[in-house]
Amino acid sequence: MANQFLRVWRRYRSVPIVYRIAAAFVLGSIVGLAVGPPAQRLQPLGDLFVRLLEMIIIPIIVFTLLMAARRLSPTNLGKIGAQTVLLYLLTTTVAIALGLGVSNLINPGSGVTLTGGNVDTEQAPSLGQQLLNVVPTNPISAMAEGNILAIIFFVLVFGIGMTLVREESDADSSIRDGIDTIFETAEAGAEVMFKVVWGIMEYGVIGVFALMAALFGEIGVEAIRAYAMLAATLLLAVAIQITVVYLLVLLRGVVGVSPISFLRGTREALVTALSIRSSSGTLPVSMSNAEDNLKIDEGVYSFSLPLGATINMDGTAMYLGIVAIFAANIAGVSLTLAQQFSILVTALLASIGTAGVPSASLVMMTAVLTQVGLPLEVIAMIAGIDPLLDRLRTMNNVAGDLAVSTVVGKWNDAVDLTAGVWAGGVGEGDVVASESATD
Ligand code: ASP
Repeated sequence: MANQFLRVWRRYRSVPIVYRIAAAFVLGSIVGLAVGPPAQRLQPLGDLFVRLLEMIIIPIIVFTLLMAARRLSPTNLGKIGAQTVLLYLLTTTVAIALGLGVSNLINPGSGVTLTGGNVDTEQAPSLGQQLLNVVPTNPISAMAEGNILAIIFFVLVFGIGMTLVREESDADSSIRDGIDTIFETAEAGAEVMFKVVWGIMEYGVIGVFALMAALFGEIGVEAIRAYAMLAATLLLAVAIQITVVYLLVLLRGVVGVSPISFLRGTREALVTALSIRSSSGTLPVSMSNAEDNLKIDEGVYSFSLPLGATINMDGTAMYLGIVAIFAANIAGVSLTLAQQFSILVTALLASIGTAGVPSASLVMMTAVLTQVGLPLEVIAMIAGIDPLLDRLRTMNNVAGDLAVSTVVGKWNDAVDLTAGVWAGGVGEGDVVASESATD
C-alpha cells in the first residue's frame, strides 16, 4: 500500500511542475464553473500560494542585488540601468499604441449602454514624485512596506559602498573579511531562496486549482459573454505584443535566439503570472527562470526584473488604452488623434505608477479616463470581469520584463547563450522531475 502510494507520488512528481500547474489551472476553472459560488470557499488555499511567493520577494531581491553590486562597477550598473529603463519605456509605448490600434479596429463597447456605480477618482502620480519616492527616507520601512524601487536604490548604494570600502581596506583586515562574509552570505541566501521557490511551486498546484475554482465560482460564464469584445481586443493585442514585439523583434531579431526556447525557459513565470495576477508576486519565479533557464547574469536580472515588476507594465498600459476606446464607444464619443495621443502619454505614466498587484490598473484607469473626459462608470462596469482580464495583462507584463532582461543581458555580455534553455537544457522544474523519476 505504502509502495503503491510512493509509486503514484513519484509518477506525479515526474511530470514537470509547469504542466501540473497548467492542469490545475484548467481543472480549477472547470470545477469553479460546475460548482458555482460555493467554490469561492477554496479562495484561502489560493491566497496561501500568493502569500508564500510574496514572503520571499524581498529576500530574493536583496540577496541577488548584493551579488550584482559585488560584480559590477557603478559605471556598468549605470549603463545597464539606462538601457533597461529605455527599453522598458519603448516597449510600453509600443504596447499602448498597439492597444489603441487594435481597439480602433475592433471597436469594443459599441452598442453597449452605460450602467454601473460611482468610482472614486485618482490622479496619476506625477513623474517628479515617482522619482523622488525611489529614495527611501528609511530603508527598513521601505523593506517592511515592500517598496521595491526604494529597496533597489538602498541595496545598490549599500552594495557599491561595500565594494568601494573593500577596495580601500587592507588585504587581511577585519573590514574586508566582514564585507566578504556579507557578499558570501548574500550568495548563499539567494541559492536558498531559489530552492524555496521550487518548494512553493509544488504547493502551487493546489494553490492555482483553488484560485481558478474560486474565480469561476464567482464570475460564471455570463460575465465573460457580456464583455467578450473587450476580452477579445485585449487578447489580440497581448498576442501581437508577445509574438511580434518580444519573440520576433527582441528575441529573434535583437538577441538572435529561438523564441520557443525563450517560452520554454520562462513558462513557469508565465503560468504563475496568469494564475496569481501579480507581477510582484511572480518575481521569485521570474528571477529563478532568469537564473536557471535563461542564464542571465544576476548583474542584470537582479536589477531589471524587480524594476520591471514595478515600472514596466506593457499589458497594463495597453489595457488602459483599450478601456479608453471602450469607454469612448459606450459614451458615443469619437476620440481625435490628439486625444488618443494624450491617452498614450497618460497611460504610459499611469502604468509606471501601477503596482504589480491584482487589478491595480483599475485604480489608475480613473486618471486616463479623466484626462479625456470619459465616463468613469465604465470602470465599475468592467470591474467584474477584471479578475479574468488581469491575468492576460500580468502575463504580458512579466513576459516583457523577461524579454527586455534577455536583450540587456545580450548587450552587456551577461547572458550565456551556450547554456540553460538555449542549449536545450532543462530548468529546475524538470530537474526535480527527472531526479525523482530515477531515484
Ligand atoms: N495585475 C497587474 C500586475 O501585477 C497590474 C494590473 O494591470 O492591474 O502586473
